[in-house]
Order: sequence, then structure tokens, then C-alpha cells
Amino acid sequence: MPGEVSQKLIKRAARDLVSSHYAIALTGAGISTESGIPDFRGPSGVWTKDPEAERRAYETYPRFLEDPKGWWEELLASPRSPIERWKNAKPNPGHYALAELEQMGILKWTITQNIDGLHERAGTKNLLEYHGSALKLRCPGCNLRFSADEFDIEKLRAEDRLPPRCPECGGVMKPDVVYFGEPIPSDVAYRSVEEAGKCDVMLVCGTSAVVYPFASLPRIAAQCDAEYPYAGERASTVTIIEINAESTALTYDGISSYLIQGNTGEVLPEIVDAVKHIRS
Ligand code: NAD
Repeated sequence: MPGEVSQKLIKRAARDLVSSHYAIALTGAGISTESGIPDFRGPSGVWTKDPEAERRAYETYPRFLEDPKGWWEELLASPRSPIERWKNAKPNPGHYALAELEQMGILKWTITQNIDGLHERAGTKNLLEYHGSALKLRCPGCNLRFSADEFDIEKLRAEDRLPPRCPECGGVMKPDVVYFGEPIPSDVAYRSVEEAGKCDVMLVCGTSAVVYPFASLPRIAAQCDAEYPYAGERASTVTIIEINAESTALTYDGISSYLIQGNTGEVLPEIVDAVKHIRS
């Protein structure tokens, strides 16, 4: 149960959301820790515990570019990836709260760094998966995405037909997940900047805000002025509400208007309740 200070901020966040014209949410790994998926840089994060895993993550994309066939074969031969274990994870109250704010007409878009598909499963419709989805494959050539189930990768391997090819343009397919060093797909990158420039309220939930270019989105929102192409479509001031277990770079740099310190799975449902109370 959030403390007295947080309760005041929860009510303030509800008022800011109810009076907003164009609210959006950004989310990071922190919103999924209560679904049993560890984050990277929180106190129990995967990389906090195993810094070597972070180094290995930087080798993935260059290896894919160098030898896509060998890369796919190595992927299939590797021990069960953590992503396989995530498939059993379920959305938690934080994911459902954001979906409910969208259904209420308050939240216009959710932009997530997460690759776990839990926002979609919770019912969020207007979703940008900034770093892709572990449940999809993407053609880097034409940006078309397909459910991973549409490709029988094991059969392609058995028939020596790896890597999988795009049914539309014939390009080499890769998992939709954006690896370190890989450009953000242009469709998602462009749309995210557009949404950050349009919003008058931004909820930033469970991200350490250190992975760029995603971490630039709150900064784009905060610094937009009359010169910015989308500024005419929104109010002149932007309220950036951080919900995080701890302070982040956004808190220290004064980008966020205020921080509600706590777990997203508790704070976000309380914000939804406070919104309902205001509207009743
Ligand atoms: P991060 O690990 O860098 O930071 C997570 C932040 O959330 C930390 O500040 C932590 O204190 C906070 N946090 C943890 N649990 C919380 C909770 N229950 N409530 C509120 N705050 C909580 O995560 P990031 O900023 O998203 O960057 C990590 C990168 O790794 C992203 O690019 C993402 O694609 C990827 N990633 C994704 C998943 C996933 O899909 N679930 C999991 C791990 C990493």
C-alpha cells in the first residue's frame, strides 16, 4: 500500500490524467517484474547480477549480420532461452490498469520497451513495441512483422533452408526483438517521436531511462516548444509523471514533473480508481 506522500501524488496524477487532452504512457522492464520477468538494471536485474550477460548481448546483432544462417542455427542449438520461460508469464495489475485507462479514452498510446507481449495480452490496442516483440519475426528490409508461429523454423533447419525468408520481399527474417547496435525500425521510431511531441501528459512506468533512443522520448516531450513540428497540436506544458520503485535519470535531471515511488502493479490500479472517483 503506497504511503501518504504517494497517495497525494496518486490523486494528483489522476487529476492530471482526467484534465489531459492527449496522454500517453511509456513503459519499461519494471512493469513486468511483478509478472515474474526480471528487469536488467533494477536491484535484482539480470545484468546487475551477471554483468557478463550484458557484454554478450552486444555481440548478437553483428553476428546476425555476418552470418544469418549460422546465427539461426546457433539460436536453435542454444539451451532454452529465457524468452521461452517468459511465454508462461501473465499480465499483472499494472498492465491491466494501462489497458483500462486506454478503454476510458484517457490514454491514447502506450509505447513499451518490453518484448514480452504482456501489454497486448492485457488488452492495450494502441501499442508501439519500440524494441520489438519476442513473439514475432520481422523483415528488416520491409519492416513486415509476422507471428513467430507462422514459421516452422525447425522444419526449415531440417531441410537446410535457414535463414527464414520474408514472404513479401524475400529478405532475411530475424526475431522482431531489436538487438544492441540495431537501428530501431523506422516505422516505430518515427511514430514514437510523433506521439512524444503531441502529448500533454506522459506516464513513464518502470524504466531506468538509460537505454537510448527510447530514453530520449520523455526529453523530447519535456523540451518541445513552439518550434517543434507537433507542438501546435497540444497544450504548451507537458506533465511527465514517473512511476518507479526508485529515482532515475529522469528524476535527477528534472525531466519528470514528479515521481510516484512504488510498484507499478500497485500504483497504476490506484490511479485508475482515483480517476473513476473524480469522474463519478
Ligand atoms: P531496466 O532494467 O533498465 O530498469 C527497470 C526499472 O524499473 C528500474 O529503475 C527498476 O527500479 C524499476 N522497477 C523494477 N520493478 C518495478 C516495479 N514493480 N514497479 C516500478 N518500478 C520497477 O529496464 P528498461 O529501462 O526497460 O531497459 C531494459 C531494456 O531491456 C529494455 O530495452 C527492454 O527492451 C529490455 N528488457 C525487457 C524485458 C521485458 O520485455 N519484460 C525484461 C528485461 C529487459
